[in-house]
Amino acid sequence: MSWLKQSIVRGGLESLYFSGAHVALRPFVGGVGAILALRHVRPPRPDRFQPNRALEVTPQFFTGLVQRLRRSRLDLISLDEMHRRMVEGDFKRRFVCLTFDDGYRDLREWAFPVLKEEGVPFAIYVPTSFPDRLGELWWLVLEAVIARNNRVGLIIGGRDRAFDCGTVAEKQALYDELYWWLRGRATEHEMRGIVRSLATYYHVDVRALCNELCMSWPELAELASEPLVTIGAHTVSHPVLSRLSHDAARSEMELSRSIVEAALAVRPAHLSYPYGDRSAAGNREFAIAAEIGFKTAVTARPGVLFARHKRSLTSLPRISLHGDYQQMRYALVLLSGAAAMLWKGFRQANAA
Ligand SMILES: [Zn+2]
Repeated sequence: MSWLKQSIVRGGLESLYFSGAHVALRPFVGGVGAILALRHVRPPRPDRFQPNRALEVTPQFFTGLVQRLRRSRLDLISLDEMHRRMVEGDFKRRFVCLTFDDGYRDLREWAFPVLKEEGVPFAIYVPTSFPDRLGELWWLVLEAVIARNNRVGLIIGGRDRAFDCGTVAEKQALYDELYWWLRGRATEHEMRGIVRSLATYYHVDVRALCNELCMSWPELAELASEPLVTIGAHTVSHPVLSRLSHDAARSEMELSRSIVEAALAVRPAHLSYPYGDRSAAGNREFAIAAEIGFKTAVTARPGVLFARHKRSLTSLPRISLHGDYQQMRYALVLLSGAAAMLWKGFRQANAA
């Protein structure tokens, strides 16, 4: 996310917090419940260049959030229970589901003990290539290449290009540019090929990254045996599904469910689309997920759940907890009934 966009989001949250008046937050306010999206929970690192900082929250923040939610009037429920309430229209109480994408090891180390202690159900969406140790966490490969070098060369459009990245500002700018350039490649195959050659040329061990950061099957099995844990599907290779053919996209979703079932003896009923933004998953993917029988599937499109989402259970919005604005009050604004009240007040004042 660009600095400007971050500032607008941050400004929007601040203004809602203090005045209750920000149109941009309309999709967050009210609703019958919410699904929270998290990836990493781990202590902050000192590095100044951290382009993926937004994907993590600190254990301290996470613990505070879980404790606040536990003491709130919101029900903390599993995805199966969320599905039941949506289908049956059981909205007597507002609810929250906690979900984690990618199955990182820090979830087991930092988040799980807190969730177990507080008795909070949660879901882990697993891309099966990660515990299979074949995962290409290409966004981290790109980060490592730029972090460790002052100049990065790349062939773009058949021409050799070189980028200076000696300063933190240059590294940040180059990361943003290359991340979105790679996401924009016509095929997944092309993008992976470029990242693989970067990794080879700049000596980044792709396999070691996956080994270090992602849970193994035995570690996942241990968590899967806990009654609080739901294991969800997150494809096999974590591709941008919209870039694949219909059949390939379908097989990524179906195959990942079978692989999880074979490895953990639980058949995932819930799916998360990799990346989950508008350019990564759309109507075609939502239809496939429904067709092959997932009960629910989540995106990264921001918002809370309304009763009408009963009709679109394979394109559910989530609220991402971003490391960039992890202050507790932001999360509380996003979830709170107070926000709904403030918003209603603002609308009524406007209509008057
Ligand atoms: Zn993911």
